[in-house]
Amino acid sequence: MSELLIKDKSSDPRLFGANGVDATLIPHELAHALYFALMPLTTRASVETQYMGWITSRVASGLPPFHNTNLATTSFVAWIESLGIFSERFFFFSRKHIPQLTGVVLRQEFFRDELSAAPLLQNLTGYSQAATLNAGNVVPAFTGDNVEGALYGAIFLDFARRRGLGEAVGRYLNSSDK
Ligand SMILES: [Zn+2]
Repeated sequence: MSELLIKDKSSDPRLFGANGVDATLIPHELAHALYFALMPLTTRASVETQYMGWITSRVASGLPPFHNTNLATTSFVAWIESLGIFSERFFFFSRKHIPQLTGVVLRQEFFRDELSAAPLLQNLTGYSQAATLNAGNVVPAFTGDNVEGALYGAIFLDFARRRGLGEAVGRYLNSSDK
């Protein structure tokens, strides 16, 4: 969401990590905040309206307003959430490798590991592996532009592998001013 709401620790174990749940909330939400901050005001207002509309429609239908790697939501929610997935995963991956890996080596290791048979973060809360490699080709585990794991795999793993993770992230962030 556009505001970074830090809730009470007892209300969301993702804040500091507890009971086997990883502390994914802050790296996830910071990415949303950055992306929204880069938008022109009118785009940001439209995005907020669409996101609130989605949450409201879920609640009105008696469905939880949650999202997950493998869930179909809407193409808009999935696009926004693919960055959240990337941010929390890259944050944890970096933390496990600092100071040994930095810069381009760190970025390459990230998508190679994510596509490997046994990713380092395969058990990070809320994740199902988005894609694997077979004979040099990326094989997505999910498809559909309304599935956040499918977009995460396409942008931050497949495109990153072809053109570099820095370019993938840069293009994603630059998309907000179009
Ligand atoms: Zn999110």
